[in-house]
Amino acid sequence: MEIRYKSTRNSKVTVTASEAILQGLAEDGGLFLPTAVPAIDAEALAGRSYQEIAYEVMRLFFTDYTEEELKSCIAKAYDDKFDTEEIAPLKEAGGICYLELFHGATIAFKDMALSILPHLLTTAAKKQQKKEEIVILTATSGDTGKAALAGFADVPGTSIVVFYPKDGVSKIQEKQMVTQTGDNTNVIAIRGNFDDAQNGVKEIFGDKELAARAREQGYRFSSANSINIGRLVPQIVYYVYTYATLLSKGMISAGESINVAVPTGNFGNILAAYYAKKMGTPLGKLICASNDNKVLYDFFQTGTYDKNREFILTASPSMDILVSSNLERLIYLCAEENSEANVELMRQLKEQGHYTITEQMKEGLTDFVGGYATEQQTFDTIRRVYEQSGYVIDTHTAVAASVCHQYKEETGDNAFTVVVSTASPYKFTRSVMKALGQETDGEDDFVLADRLSEYSGTKIPKAVEEIRNAPVRHTRVCDKEKMRETVSDILNLR
Ligand SMILES: *Cc1c(COP(=O)(O)O)cnc(C)c1O
Repeated sequence: MEIRYKSTRNSKVTVTASEAILQGLAEDGGLFLPTAVPAIDAEALAGRSYQEIAYEVMRLFFTDYTEEELKSCIAKAYDDKFDTEEIAPLKEAGGICYLELFHGATIAFKDMALSILPHLLTTAAKKQQKKEEIVILTATSGDTGKAALAGFADVPGTSIVVFYPKDGVSKIQEKQMVTQTGDNTNVIAIRGNFDDAQNGVKEIFGDKELAARAREQGYRFSSANSINIGRLVPQIVYYVYTYATLLSKGMISAGESINVAVPTGNFGNILAAYYAKKMGTPLGKLICASNDNKVLYDFFQTGTYDKNREFILTASPSMDILVSSNLERLIYLCAEENSEANVELMRQLKEQGHYTITEQMKEGLTDFVGGYATEQQTFDTIRRVYEQSGYVIDTHTAVAASVCHQYKEETGDNAFTVVVSTASPYKFTRSVMKALGQETDGEDDFVLADRLSEYSGTKIPKAVEEIRNAPVRHTRVCDKEKMRETVSDILNLR
């Protein structure tokens, strides 16, 4: 069955999968969604490899890609960049199962999709007979930039330019980016904050004259952000894989429904779980875990989404978000795919900073449970899990583990539960060591990694070892007003 893609802001026009991936955002500003949800039998996939299951899921959605094209994308993405053949291993600790999504190049969950997106994109360009080189422009507050750099490095037909705020990322994050190899990678520090970086990139995307000049010289600008359908679909894979693997290991029985707890920011990861469920994977409650920026928790409680509040910097920075862009997809689905209703709510969000869904739409949210963990609860959870089981989790994972724990206590729901683990504890070593009651003041992040390794008896990931002594390759700094000129300069645009 051919699956086409339509915008959440206009249900009438549809495009193919490769067109949706190439476009990223629909022209009307909406997000692409499949026109139908294909079914999958997760039980029948028990014992199959990650790559095999990836193919089984993606072939159902990316129906204009050939078998050969998809298998080639999958083979290039999920290879020895990952430090385990399982790609997404399941670990049991203290009676809870953790799905580890941090075994890729940058030891965080964004690698799951960003290692395949470049290949899906270049294949899409070929299919659409677009000859231009794809130039990815990204502003980052740390994690996405590095994952995109690692994904696009040395991929033929692409180049990537990442802007980050000079004093707005952690030392490890900066080191990860400025040591990035690959002749097609460019990393630029800007004198400004993350908003300046993001606004600068938006301006470049909106600059028609620049785009035309770039096009003349063989370049096409594109983005790698989390609303691309080419990032959502690869994330469905690991939920199907989890079910199939738990079954083959005898940890659950056929047909048994399992809950998942997901540390959430932009709502991309948990939306993939929702799609896995809609496809027929026996998932029960989708537990949406927030940190102190609990916009989503409040939304699930009340039906009102309100971003007019203080932005709180937490120890789980990848979840510090007040506008979860992927939520628009759920809103559209809850409105029974009525794009006018969705457009109106998104207008209210933009103009007033809040919107309220109808009672009827609320019924579409019953698969979800919202919860949140305070900073104290997050730190306590890292310590509790370590003391009970010797397993070290990062701050983002701890938010989900805490919410999962609260949910079980409050409801007595005893369903088998998987906590989705989105980052290695070595990515947020300072906070993890603090939670474990260790001295961190004045210590270098790499020294702290050594200490964590000694203390917990776990191995420092290759990704951290590799950057420890790696040469700095990117030293460019620019004023926030000069981002456009910098891109022009890098591409040698006349
Ligand atoms: C991006 C990220 C999240 C949030 O995922 P969303 O898909 O944005 O909800 C959680 N944890 C880590 C470590 C991340 O990098």
